[in-house]
Amino acid sequence: MKNDKSFKSWLTNFDLNHPLVIGGPCSAETEDQVLKIAHELKGSDVTVFRAGIWKPRTRPGNFEGVGAIGLKWLKKVKEQTGLLTAIEVANSAHCKLALDADIDILWIGARSTVSPFIVQEIADALDGTDKIVLIKNPVNPDLDLWLGGIERLYKSNIRKLGAIHRGFSTSGKSKYRNNPEWQIVIELQNKFPDLPIICDPSHICGRRDLIFDISQRALDLNFDGLMVESHCDPDNAWSDAKQQITPNTLIQFMKDWKIREITIAEESYQSSLKNLRAKIDVIDQSLLDLLGDRMKVAESIGELKKTKNVAVLQNKRWNEILGKMILDGQDRKLSEEFILRMFKAIHQESINHQQNIFKG
Ligand code: PEP
Ligand code: MN
Repeated sequence: MKNDKSFKSWLTNFDLNHPLVIGGPCSAETEDQVLKIAHELKGSDVTVFRAGIWKPRTRPGNFEGVGAIGLKWLKKVKEQTGLLTAIEVANSAHCKLALDADIDILWIGARSTVSPFIVQEIADALDGTDKIVLIKNPVNPDLDLWLGGIERLYKSNIRKLGAIHRGFSTSGKSKYRNNPEWQIVIELQNKFPDLPIICDPSHICGRRDLIFDISQRALDLNFDGLMVESHCDPDNAWSDAKQQITPNTLIQFMKDWKIREITIAEESYQSSLKNLRAKIDVIDQSLLDLLGDRMKVAESIGELKKTKNVAVLQNKRWNEILGKMILDGQDRKLSEEFILRMFKAIHQESINHQQNIFKG
């Protein structure tokens, strides 16, 4: 797939002087609820109203959406407030109904992106559409699966494409419902700099108190927009109650988020940036040199262990080192998570080198 410059054009056509904001409830529940939220968001920086009408739930027996009747409510939203409308589609029947109802934006949910069969079915059903189609990342941290989904839509001649980052599930402990794994999105941005990327802080956070900061982080990383679940009575929402915020809170957030410039031409800024980047380059080079030196020492230890026939892995010593590094890292404002990731990677590399020596 080539990096199509026209990707961003659907976004620039909105002619916004701020990132695109999609707001609205996790699920459409009743006509009154939908219209109440839409009217509260009307006139704000929210451009698009979202509402799930078919809800993919992890366990059966939970509220699974109001179904096609919700399309009529969304039509009223558009007529009464001028907001564009967005829903999730998960099969070809949903696509047909959404296109017939003139929904403006269709998104593919995280549980659908994991399945190439489903994504292909949706791509076929939407072939050649001029509607905007957004694809969420798959639930698992697999960039290729996400790229594959984008490619399937592109091959079906859909050109108003975008991606939604909603975090990734993890087996480890995390304060987030779905870990942000920002590096995966940064890789996606590098591959397709012109593909609009929207952050969904609601499904990343899973709880409303984290949403402001995660959204700000996304804006700092030049995301093109945000999709934030908002509900007139969040605590009593029929789905995702803990992560929804009121329309008023969302409106306040939009006032408080800082939108950074991508870059500015100003000479003093450019020269300071150049200096700082030169420093970073020097430090990175030293890091590489140090790591190279460290591997050489690890190899010498490997030689020694080999002659004395001692096992490569010495768990006790390694756990002591990690504990000390976490403490020392705190003094340098380095998070425990970072220290663990970094030293595990370094340690693994040392073990690989030593194993090569054992193999001769
Ligand atoms: C949603 O947007 O309500 C939703 C179901 O999200 P996800 O596909 O990210 O789980
Ligand atoms: Mn939801």
